[in-house]
Amino acid sequence: MAPTIRRFASAVLISALASAALAQDAPPQTLFTNVNVFDGESPALLQDAQVLVEGNLIKTVSTDTIDAPAATVIDGGGRTLMPGLIESHVHLNYQHMIGGYDTIEMRDWQEIGAMGAATARALLLDGWTTIRDPGASLKGISDVIDRGEVIGPRLYQATAVIGQTGGHGDFRLKGQRRLSDRTSFRAGELGMTHIVDGRPATLSAARQNLANGADFLKMMMGGGIFSSKDPLHSRQSSDEEIEAVVEVADAWDTYVTAHIYRAEDAIRAIGFGLKEILHVPFLTPEAAQVFVENGVYYNPQLSASNPEALEVIFGPTESVNKSKARVAQQGMQQVVEILKSNPALMDLTVFGVDIVTVTPEAARRNRDFEMFFWAENFGNLATLKSMTSIGGKVAALTGQWNPYPDGPLGVIQEGAYADILLVEGNPLEDMTNLGANADQYGAPDRAAGQIDTMDLIMKDGVIYKNTLD
Ligand SMILES: [Zn+2]
Repeated sequence: MAPTIRRFASAVLISALASAALAQDAPPQTLFTNVNVFDGESPALLQDAQVLVEGNLIKTVSTDTIDAPAATVIDGGGRTLMPGLIESHVHLNYQHMIGGYDTIEMRDWQEIGAMGAATARALLLDGWTTIRDPGASLKGISDVIDRGEVIGPRLYQATAVIGQTGGHGDFRLKGQRRLSDRTSFRAGELGMTHIVDGRPATLSAARQNLANGADFLKMMMGGGIFSSKDPLHSRQSSDEEIEAVVEVADAWDTYVTAHIYRAEDAIRAIGFGLKEILHVPFLTPEAAQVFVENGVYYNPQLSASNPEALEVIFGPTESVNKSKARVAQQGMQQVVEILKSNPALMDLTVFGVDIVTVTPEAARRNRDFEMFFWAENFGNLATLKSMTSIGGKVAALTGQWNPYPDGPLGVIQEGAYADILLVEGNPLEDMTNLGANADQYGAPDRAAGQIDTMDLIMKDGVIYKNTLD
């Protein structure tokens, strides 16, 4: 196997290397004692265990006493120690855009970037230690997070979405639509979307994304709710365009995901070698089997199936977007039934909320409700796996291009990254201790970082919240 070459050295790694070079002390150690471990996969907790973290990795997990005299000891007091959460569908740059994607045209880059940074911080303080952004966030934000200058989760990002003229990634307003110009609009200028047609332009866009630091690539392959020009039944991207993006991703040993609504388009995408697919509210049991047979990951967004969501997100006035959302909702209810009856697909399904356009408080409420909704429908274990170990497997699809190649994410095991939560109670029995809330719209506004049962948050061996003292 070819050697893995690190793309972005973390501050922890640099200090670790410096220590090793000077043949001085080993990296700092933290020893968690008196904890019950949810490892990201098992249906039962490992009772009364100890977990030793060294540097940014988990060194030992044991029910015996771990001998680590130099370690800082944290007595877990019988709490559950579990992997940091993974949110596999976040858009850092589409936050607080009441009125939909069009409002991006009313913002300057500084507001967009600042909202992204605020969102990243809020997610980390709610226990999300890794997020995946399949569209529009750029390498700049993960660079400042990895340097420790802004706090936030690890970030896997697609950078600009790739789509055709008039498709789901074409955010141009009516007055901006000129055949000769695909970039003179805010989202185009800032590198949040590429509007491209044909193989050469698509190849170029995909390669530009990798040059800009994309960890994987995202295509628009069907209609969507928050775009006004493309009907939900539309099939987007030609065969040669899809092949071009897959070819570029494959050459870097990473993968392609896509925004897709119709079952037949999901089957088409899987035929071209996509490794993960988003949404598909019009999934069928037959298409679900195609996912399973090909080991393709599925990333649905389900909490928006609540009819109340229509009124809250779109308001009382009818619109193209609202009527599209109504049709998609009926499909989402069917997706829930398909997932319930197909455990093999559930094992390939990741947790992703895809909340855009709403206020930060409403985004938190939606995420809290999505967690509750999953647990109600699919059970706590399946929900927890989708937010930890399965999310970690999708992160690892980036292969040799993985920005975090030193260990698995979303699991508590020796050699894994030290992304760790300490929570009260047992999330396998009660998800409210992770913030899950049955009330999607009636819940009071909750500030970021105020899930009181989440007592400790560690990312990459560094503690960002600790209320145990
Ligand atoms: Zn999305």
